[in-house]
Amino acid sequence: MPNAVRMHDEQAAFLSLEALVWRDGPVCPHCGESSRLGRLSGLSTPIGMWKCYACRKPFTVRHGTIFQNSHVPMHVWLQALYLLTATGERISSQRLGQILGVSVRTAWHLKTKIAASVEAAKDPQGPWHGESAVNRVLREPFPDSPAPLQPGQAVCKARYERFLAATAGVAHHLDDAVFVAALHKLLRSSGTGSDPGDDVLEQQLELSLFDEPSGRGGGADDEGLR
Ligand SMILES: [Zn+2]
Repeated sequence: MPNAVRMHDEQAAFLSLEALVWRDGPVCPHCGESSRLGRLSGLSTPIGMWKCYACRKPFTVRHGTIFQNSHVPMHVWLQALYLLTATGERISSQRLGQILGVSVRTAWHLKTKIAASVEAAKDPQGPWHGESAVNRVLREPFPDSPAPLQPGQAVCKARYERFLAATAGVAHHLDDAVFVAALHKLLRSSGTGSDPGDDVLEQQLELSLFDEPSGRGGGADDEGLR
């Protein structure tokens, strides 16, 4: 499950979120328009940007969600959610920041917002993941990325490599249903998500469209998206 394009590709992360939030198609958060909308795709246009041709305002699927007003990329939010879910929120802000390549302050912010939102989504049956797997995420060192830290794709790639190294061996413990349920909790906490209920499996299938075809890591095809 960490081997999903949405975990390291910003465009795929946005498409995943749009599939969850806009079940019946995109809606302008400013005026409610649902038909005269267009996806903006200019070279200088931020990923995920739409324009409403009724009220002329731009918007993204982040609007009205916990992700609104956050400068943190969507795929980083998803990685953070995965790491927090996989460890029962026991990962420290320092460790989280180290893996995600963000400041401790930003990591703390992500952790606090996510923890508050998914609190109620915890499995009442208790932890479903093995202690050793969690310890790996929490403590085991991961190799330094050979990729140079420069803006853009290299940063994404290096972050994803750290993420995969940290979560190696945990993948089979945390399936899509658990992750999607947690993501639903985040969205519901901001009043925009729909009730997961029986829809989780269905959406899990939809979201699997963004899974890597095989193996780990991003191929050349994925990188072409950015
Ligand atoms: Zn509008």
